[in-house]
Amino acid sequence: MASLSDLPIRDDLRGQSPYGAPQKHVRVQLNVNENSHPIPEAVARDIVESLAAAVLTLNRYPDREFTVLREGLAAYLGHGIGTEQVWAANGSNEIIQQLLQAFGGPGRRVLAFPPTYSMHGIITRGTGTTWLTAERDPGYELSAETVVAAIEAHRPDLVFLCAPNNPTGTPVALDVIEAAYEASDGMVFVDEAYAEFMPAHAPSAITLLPDRHRLVVSRTMSKAFAFAGARVGYLAADPAVVDALRLVRLPYHLSALTQAAAIAALRHAPEMLATVDDIRAQRDRLVSELPVLGYRAYESWANFVLFDGLDDPHATFEALLERDIIIRDVGLPGALRVTAGTEQETTLFLEALAALA
Ligand code: PMP
Repeated sequence: MASLSDLPIRDDLRGQSPYGAPQKHVRVQLNVNENSHPIPEAVARDIVESLAAAVLTLNRYPDREFTVLREGLAAYLGHGIGTEQVWAANGSNEIIQQLLQAFGGPGRRVLAFPPTYSMHGIITRGTGTTWLTAERDPGYELSAETVVAAIEAHRPDLVFLCAPNNPTGTPVALDVIEAAYEASDGMVFVDEAYAEFMPAHAPSAITLLPDRHRLVVSRTMSKAFAFAGARVGYLAADPAVVDALRLVRLPYHLSALTQAAAIAALRHAPEMLATVDDIRAQRDRLVSELPVLGYRAYESWANFVLFDGLDDPHATFEALLERDIIIRDVGLPGALRVTAGTEQETTLFLEALAALA
């Protein structure tokens, strides 16, 4: 059997490892920011019925324009977003990939503010686009001044903002996004994977879309919607951006089964999102209880909390794993990230962590 090094693989892939958190089937899985609550059974039954009907159409290719799904997503987003402004793909990772295929590439540059979602850099480099970074403000915050100064210094083709930011949970104020748009003449991409966990009063970057044709906002059904296994991500943008993605998408990239499942799930959006308040409460509980154990917890607008002050994060990660609890080592000094799960999972995590001290 050959090994990778025996193959004429691209030079930039040599020595790399596949990206992804360890997939371990332990009792308490708080490592990839999923929704720990399964979808309601009544909704599951409706999805199964839709899937059964879709199965009978599998001899044909699916709707390449997934129009009914886009209508459902536009209705869910509200804010006057039209079907022609919405595009979907197999997870928001694929949305980002398509965006870079259309607007990035060799000779083009992305500017981002790490620590941020690792796949932003991986997909950027994977499409031959240059990955430029600038520092955040203290406490991982991001001010308009910092963002504008970095844009003026680098003049990137694309600016990536993650709002709220993974892995820190940090919000990005709307005026920061507006300032980034004004300062830049390239695309401004806002990753709102965790939007539904933001405080109810916090406006989404979607409200900035009118008259900003270089602004792109992505969302996903993987987090609040409890639909990670279905692989559905989407974006809202000017219809011209959607036209650009049509040029790079593979034909029929969303299967008939994916479309049917997502359409059915969106019909039940309020029930699908019924656990968001509970998850926010567990997140806020983590932010208030982790300091009692001697750690610094960062304010989070998402469904996870970054905490630091650990002597040896890797040892803590391993010790929790031995207790059947998996969280995430995000490679930041003295820090770990934990997803806000069910009340019971949060209790098990906090008790196990306390027992380690
Ligand atoms: N964006 C952010 C900020 C994320 O944290 C994630 C998943 N961890 C994604 C995008 C990708 O999610 P998906 O492909 O499941 O939509």
